[in-house]
Amino acid sequence: MRVAGIDVTVDWSLLIIFLLIVWGLASGVFPQWHPSWPPMTAWLTAVAAAVLFFASVLAHELSHSLVARAYGIRVRRIMLYVFGGMAQIEHEPGRWVAELWIAIVGPLTSLAIGFLCLYLGVVGITRVDVTNVASVEHALVALGPGRTLLLWLGQINLVLAIFNLVPAFPLDGGRVLRAIMWGATHDLRRATRWASALGQAFAWLLIGAGIAMVLGFSMPILGGGLINGIWLAFIGWFLNNAALVSYRQLLTQEILQDVPVSRLMLTRFETVPPQLPLETLIDGYMARSDQRAYPVVGDDTRLLGIVFQRDVERLTQEQRRAMTAREAMRSPEQVVVARPGEDVLEVLNVLAQRDINQVPVLEDGRVVGLVRRADILHWLALQNAPKQTRA
Ligand SMILES: [Zn+2]
Repeated sequence: MRVAGIDVTVDWSLLIIFLLIVWGLASGVFPQWHPSWPPMTAWLTAVAAAVLFFASVLAHELSHSLVARAYGIRVRRIMLYVFGGMAQIEHEPGRWVAELWIAIVGPLTSLAIGFLCLYLGVVGITRVDVTNVASVEHALVALGPGRTLLLWLGQINLVLAIFNLVPAFPLDGGRVLRAIMWGATHDLRRATRWASALGQAFAWLLIGAGIAMVLGFSMPILGGGLINGIWLAFIGWFLNNAALVSYRQLLTQEILQDVPVSRLMLTRFETVPPQLPLETLIDGYMARSDQRAYPVVGDDTRLLGIVFQRDVERLTQEQRRAMTAREAMRSPEQVVVARPGEDVLEVLNVLAQRDINQVPVLEDGRVVGLVRRADILHWLALQNAPKQTRA
């Protein structure tokens, strides 16, 4: 699905949430508000409410994305999943003002949707004495499906805005806090460290409250109950991971920034001639080294193609016996290549996105080196960077 030129993907976990919302509303909330509604009305209103809820989550994420784009940051895609949504932007904003606006526009959008829905839900209703509980209850029972829908949607969007405004990185509120600290200290790393420490503290608070609820304690505001407790602890665990991962990513980014490919690339590697039998390449080269990609070069040292171990592994014994390096290679157009002056960070992103282990470095059509994921991680370890499983 594409909205405003941005890919939107829907995770399977969303279906579970969708069903939970529909079921909860149709069998719990709506019958309680409107005992007189026929079941069909309750179910249809519940389905419409769930659909509109995800539409408002999408609007929240879309607002982040559009502001990011206005600041010149490419938005890879928006993912809708179990906790709502996430806009994946290509890189972190370079200035604190951009970060601030990109972060705060999401909760502002949710607040606007929330208040608009609440307003539309009650506009035109007269003679409700808000100080009189009986009068309010009477007015609520008299509400039709449309107004009921708007009121539910309004309050859920306000909840969404408030949850996202909690100053715990990587929630929107945490990003706002980080942007402000970044602006005040001019030190992005320190700002991120503080914001993600707060994020982790908040996450552990949720986990603690969740466990207490599972054990039967009742929490202020949150209430109690086994399911609510498990749910809360799960959100806390997720937030804790997210805070750690974003901090590590930032450190990696900072260390690899402005490091050119030429500094990290492997320059001592084997190349093979095109007419070399594939069997010789396997027994004489691949079996004897940890090099997994072999540039095939002609007499003028120009790159003709690359033989990948991954491709060779798929060939049968007969194919291996019959083929030459030229027949087993991929042409340079089919292969991702890097340039010596390129940032290592960019190459690391490409390696992670395509799930490949190395790229050849080309200069004027000649292979001058190989950049391997393992070498980048090794180099990061030498710089005393925190370990990471995935860039
Ligand atoms: Zn947001």
